[in-house]
Amino acid sequence: MTQAIVFVEHAEGTPRRASLECVGAAVAAGATVLAVLTGTGAEAAAPLVAGASEAIVLTSDGYSPDAFAVACADLVNARGAKAFFAAATYRGKDLAPRVAALLDVNPFADCTGLSTEGGAFQVRRPWLAGKCIATLGTSGAVLVATTRLNAFKPAASGAPASVTQVAVTAAPKVRVTGIQAKAGTRLDVKEAPVVISGGRGLQDAEKFKILEDLAAAFGNAAVGASRAIVDAGWRPHNEQVGQTGKTVSPQLYIAVGISGAIQHLAGMRTSATIVAINKDKDAPIFKVADYGIVGDAFEIVPALTAAVKAIKSQA
Ligand SMILES: Cc1cc2nc3c(=O)[nH]c(=O)nc-3n(C[C@H](O)[C@H](O)[C@H](O)COP(=O)(O)OP(=O)(O)OC[C@H]3O[C@@H](n4cnc5c(N)ncnc54)[C@H](O)[C@@H]3O)c2cc1C
Repeated sequence: MTQAIVFVEHAEGTPRRASLECVGAAVAAGATVLAVLTGTGAEAAAPLVAGASEAIVLTSDGYSPDAFAVACADLVNARGAKAFFAAATYRGKDLAPRVAALLDVNPFADCTGLSTEGGAFQVRRPWLAGKCIATLGTSGAVLVATTRLNAFKPAASGAPASVTQVAVTAAPKVRVTGIQAKAGTRLDVKEAPVVISGGRGLQDAEKFKILEDLAAAFGNAAVGASRAIVDAGWRPHNEQVGQTGKTVSPQLYIAVGISGAIQHLAGMRTSATIVAINKDKDAPIFKVADYGIVGDAFEIVPALTAAVKAIKSQA
């Protein structure tokens, strides 16, 4: 069977969902997966990597992306693996191109499909702001790619038969000495299964409260924004969805008072289900929406919040 090496991130000993999706994508494509982990808690997280047949914990004195990339590339070569994958998180996007450079191949970023053809991996990824989907392979010996968050399902079963430790030996050029996480428990738009984004139709920053309320009613939703909103200073840039913001692919994307400019669509059109609320029936957002509600956001959103609360209270 074709082997893939997958970089698995974890938070205090629990594998991140984005990484489990990446492993699930490789398994569904027919690969056997060797998971590589690192950092405090990696030993605890390794046996929990569903779908991986083996896990290696890379040990080092702190995380260094360049030294870690050397260790990963060495593993690919030593195992004769046909692919190296990571989730398209900040760390995955930092690591995968370094591994690709060491293997002298081109990395494929933010892929939404993964398959094998005659034992070789292929990826699918949106091109031209999502206007077409390209299927791509590599002429190199190894395919290196990052997988889009929420685009794949974690493997349903299976756990590593063995977990071994390997020391990172390359001398680090860069070392991560600390990470300052922002206070607060808000879900990131890239990881949330439900994203509710607001646009200029919301009129001012205070009125985003109706989206916050809807997000709270769902319980697993993040609030996003169009660039017009971020440029106006109503919401922080880390909530911006689109070409110059974040690319999201949630189960449910609700666009409220957003016209649907091509640069916004580039960041959300691969969402599983898109709902658009706009008072202009000709707004371009309706062209990509699965469900469209023509009307005033200030009437529709509170009604939606009440409906979600009512359904949740029955559950
Ligand atoms: C290089 C470049 C990069 C860009 N990158 C991004 C990006 O990453 N993300 C992004 O979003 N944009 C991006 N843009 C900007 C983009 O082109 C649009 O200008 C922006 O998306 C428009 O934001 P909007 O939909 O909120 O506002 P508008 O286009 O002004 O739309 C507001 C909508 O609200 C509706 N509306 C008004 N009142 C109500 C109401 N009461 N109820 C319901 N609906 C109502 C209106 O009918 C309208 O459709 C980029 C542009 C450029 C040139």
